[in-house]
Amino acid sequence: MMEARIALCKCKEGGNIYGVRFEKMGDGWKYTWAFPVKEAAAKREHYDQTKIVGQIVPESGYPGCPYCRTKDFVICNCGKLNCHNGNDTHFTCNWCGLSGTLGAYDGSGFGSGGDL
Ligand SMILES: [Zn+2]
Ligand SMILES: [Zn+2]
Repeated sequence: MMEARIALCKCKEGGNIYGVRFEKMGDGWKYTWAFPVKEAAAKREHYDQTKIVGQIVPESGYPGCPYCRTKDFVICNCGKLNCHNGNDTHFTCNWCGLSGTLGAYDGSGFGSGGDL
């Protein structure tokens, strides 16, 4: 049985949010799909309530952010995903406003929710 979850990501282009579909793969996750979602709908579906733990990798067909097309994320200490485009090492979270220098993601987990 395949385990799949949706995590939320916020794009810095206009602060739009979208859902990212993750599928369990070994002890990590691959992300396969991204779709625009409204903040109210995201709350209703509890996309921000469960956790994904482990390494994340894009599937070859992953379409990227619906707004800016990036396939990379920054995972903030607050547990949320942000688009990462360009080579900036300085980062400000679009959810909680935390800023700092980027490090490697350690697989400690981030917020997600609900099976699809
Ligand atoms: Zn984006
Ligand atoms: Zn944050």
